[in-house]
Order: sequence, then structure tokens, then C-alpha cells
Amino acid sequence: MPGAGTDKTKPWLVTPAPIVVLVEPQLGENIGAAARVMANFGLSRLCLVRPVQGWPNEKARVMAAGADCVLDAAILCESLAAAIADCTFVLATTARRHDQAKPVISAEAAAAEMASRIAAGEKVAVVFGRERNGLENEEIALADRIVTLPVNPAFASLNLAQAVAIVCYEWFKQAGGGLPFSMPQKSPPASKQQLAAFFADLERELEKVEFFRPPEKSSTMRINLRNIFTRMQPTQQDVRTLHGVLTAIAQGRKGPARGGVLDAAEAQRLRELIAEHGGGRVPRERGPVRGLSRLLRRNPTEAERVLWQALVNDRRLAGRGFKRQVPIGPHIVDLVSFPMRCVVDLVPEAESAAAAAARAEKRAYLAARGYRIIAVDAAAAVANPRRALDAIVAELSSAGGG
Ligand code: SAH
Repeated sequence: MPGAGTDKTKPWLVTPAPIVVLVEPQLGENIGAAARVMANFGLSRLCLVRPVQGWPNEKARVMAAGADCVLDAAILCESLAAAIADCTFVLATTARRHDQAKPVISAEAAAAEMASRIAAGEKVAVVFGRERNGLENEEIALADRIVTLPVNPAFASLNLAQAVAIVCYEWFKQAGGGLPFSMPQKSPPASKQQLAAFFADLERELEKVEFFRPPEKSSTMRINLRNIFTRMQPTQQDVRTLHGVLTAIAQGRKGPARGGVLDAAEAQRLRELIAEHGGGRVPRERGPVRGLSRLLRRNPTEAERVLWQALVNDRRLAGRGFKRQVPIGPHIVDLVSFPMRCVVDLVPEAESAAAAAARAEKRAYLAARGYRIIAVDAAAAVANPRRALDAIVAELSSAGGG
């Protein structure tokens, strides 16, 4: 699709540009491809010195893919000297060392020099050689500079039109041809103030779960964390989205349509109700137990939340297979490690007689099935989750469960 990306409503570029001279080009295809790439990069003046297959050339037209105006305006010359007669600055391109006392420059440097000379009103030409044997020494001698491209020394010779492409590309960049389009900017960049507000909220939530540990590393951790987001150069919308993500994670699922979220006191009340009403103890019916355990998992009490946070961040208990609010038979346990066959039972400060009875029944059920039960005082866990963890670890190792 030669026309892809082409905007036919745009005027053809007519700013002054270098003349491209092809010396004795052998293949019409290469002339056409060179014309095409000249048009791509805003050059229009082509000079052909004795094209081997004659002129005009049908194969050139096919390869030009629409850059006909470059071909139609091409000038035919009998010699390189005639082609560059009215030029004041000439560059000869070659892959080969010619051992001539003449500056050798890159295509980029050539573009810079051509640009300043053309801006000053000079007429400039870039000369390309024959496909088979390039430019002769006498032809190179006519030039002011030699242009060579950085290439694999073991395979240095480019296709003629491709060499033209590189030189024309460098010219166009130099002549101010910026990228034709860029990433769409759908939201303006976030202000530092907006970012600071996000960081404050993020850090507040992370403090709640004692993320910034140990204290002496806290300030470095904060800086590193901020830098992750600063490097992104987020837009205002990005920061709003991140804020939403943070709120969703910190506060749980949104909106009553999805069942809402209970606060710590409500979550505690839910457990009391379940305990008093016999929980999911429906004979031969596992569905309700599972549904309840999901509900409990989603609505942790404060004690469950802080203990779980401490547990997942504790190396001693990493990989021990602990899970939260899991049904075991008709009961739902606060924490369980099946590999260690151990249950952590969080005991609330006060509970009704019915709830206490249900708890006793649960423990008996678990003990009968070989589970070790570690009772943890819920209020103590909230006050000092790490001490509660230490007690669990001590309990596990004392009983040889290590
Ligand atoms: N075998 C020839 C290469 C000809 S390629 C030789 O040894 O010179 C055709 C033309 O493309 C060359 O004359 C030159 O104008 C250009 N060209 C090819 N490779 C190039 C390179 N590495 N650096 C600069 N110009 C190159």
C-alpha cells in the first residue's frame, strides 16, 4: 500500500533542498525507488548522468509509486561535471576508501552542512555512484566532501536507493521534519499538588498496614515509592484512576449493589450473629457454609485484618499455607494451615453464651480431627499484632510443629 499514511490534501513540499545526482544508474528500479524516497523526504530535484537502460524507464515509474513528479522533472546529463556545473557545494557518497585528501563526514554532518549552505542560497548536490562499481576516483575528486555511512565492514555496500534514502532522511530531519504524529494527549499532566495528595493517601494506607518497616528505612522507602509514580509522568486522569484503585483496595468493594462492606464493628457483629444462629451448620449442605466464609473473608474484623497483614509479611510464617476464613466441615475457622493442621482461633473480648458454646463445639470438632488450635485474644492482636504472631510462632515450634 504505497499510499498508506499519505495525505493527498497536503501540498507537495517545495522548500529548497539538495539535488540528487545518480551517476550511470544501471537499474530503472533503483532510479524509481530513489525518486520515491526523495519525495518521502521532501527532495524533488533528480539529475541522471547517462542512465544505462535509457530514459524514460517504465520500471522506474513502477518503483516510484506515485512520485512521478520527481521522475518527470528529472534532468539528463552527459557527465557528472555537467550535472554539478552550477553547484557551489558537492558531496560524493561512497562505501569505499578513496585515499583522497578530502574530509570524510557522516550523513548527519552532511545534512547540517547542506542545510546551512542552502539557507545561505547555495546550490548543493549529493552524488551517488553506479550499482556495480560506485564512483570513480575522478568523480570523487569533483566533490567537496566524501560522505560514508557507518556499516558492517564485511558487507559495506548498500543498495543505491537505500543509500539515497539514508542521506535524504538525515536531510529531512535536519530541515525540521519532525514526527508527523505523536501519542494523543487525552488528559493533561498531573500537577505536583495532585500527585502529593495521592502520595499522602497512599502512604497513609500503607502506614495502616505497617508497610514502612523497619523505621530507619521508612524515608528511603517513601522516596522510592514516590519515584515509581513520578517516573511515569502520570496524567491527571492517571492519578484519579490510581486514587480510585487505592480507595477500592483500602475500603473494599464499592457500592451496595455488590453487598457493601462492613466496618470492623459490623464485621464483629456478623460473626456474633453467625455464631449464635449456628453458622452454616446445615447437614449435608456445603453451599451456605462456603457462601458465609466468602462473606467473612470479604469483611474482616479489625483483629483479623491486622493479624493477617502481619502474618503475610512475616518470614517465619511465609509458605506455611495459612488461609483466612475457611470452612472445615460445618465450621468456619479464622486462620488455618492445612499443611500444619493448625487453626488459629480469634477470641473476641466478650461473647454471648450461645456464641461461646458454638466456639467450644467448633474446637471439639477440630480437635477430634487432629487440628491443633491456637487461641489468640482478638483485642490483644489489634493492640500488638506482632506479639500475637510471636505467640503463634512460639506455639507452633513448642509443639514440634516447626
Ligand atoms: N560496489 C560499489 C557500491 C555501489 S552501491 C562500490 O564499491 O562503491 C551504489 C552507491 O550507493 C554507491 O556508489 C554510493 O553512492 C552509495 N552507497 C552504497 N553504500 C554506501 C555506504 N556504505 N556509504 C555511502 N554511500 C554508499
